[in-house]
Amino acid sequence: MRRLVVGNWKMNGMAADLGALGPVLEAAGAPGAAEAAICPPATLIAALAARVAGRIGVGGQDCHAAAKGAHTGEISAPMLIDAGATLVILGHSERRRDRGEDDAAIGAKIAAAQGAGLRVILCVGETEVERDAGRTGDVVSGQFRAALAAAVAVDPARFDLAYEPVWAIGTGRVPAMEDIAAVHAQLGREIAAAFGVAGQGVRILYGGSVTAANAAAIFAVAGVGGALVGGASLKPAEFAAIIRAA
Ligand code: PEP
Repeated sequence: MRRLVVGNWKMNGMAADLGALGPVLEAAGAPGAAEAAICPPATLIAALAARVAGRIGVGGQDCHAAAKGAHTGEISAPMLIDAGATLVILGHSERRRDRGEDDAAIGAKIAAAQGAGLRVILCVGETEVERDAGRTGDVVSGQFRAALAAAVAVDPARFDLAYEPVWAIGTGRVPAMEDIAAVHAQLGREIAAAFGVAGQGVRILYGGSVTAANAAAIFAVAGVGGALVGGASLKPAEFAAIIRAA
């Protein structure tokens, strides 16, 4: 399965930054390279899509569940496509935390995104308190099942999952490799149960403090189908190194 490396720029990035993506495009264009994508802030989606011209994917960091209407400040899935996006991150822990997004809301967004034609990357992950209580498995399976149930019908051909321990995001802390392996194995079983053989192409990305220094070790873990990269994706040379490691 071809690995997928996605950069999540969060609320970072200006138009001038798009000129520095040469190393990323070069890494993604190498023979046999992993699939790569960047999810910039919405203000940059159209400009990034024009800049990369299909050499890497371009995605949104969220979308609204409705296609249009009276929702000030929101962006819909058809609008993301109109701007040049082909994928969208949904259920990121920062949105669950900052916007109170629950699994039902995330499921509705999955349905809207896939209905509009976007590939979805659904994020699941436990907090540190949940991890310390030994609840990681229950939390990630619960988030996955609840979002899928709320979405009603999910197309596995346009769906990937990202395991992002909340306590590892932006902290420089990474789980033990055997813990990543265990969670990815569990999520693999969830995918098989949800989609059967049709789910065989669903990738499970790891996210949380991935860097050029630890990427090779993380990609060597069984079941890791790629990476969702925050901070390190803002540095083109480092993000390029992660793509090469994949
Ligand atoms: C993220 O926010 O999805 C993420 C993985 O961030 P970082 O790589 O900075 O930990």
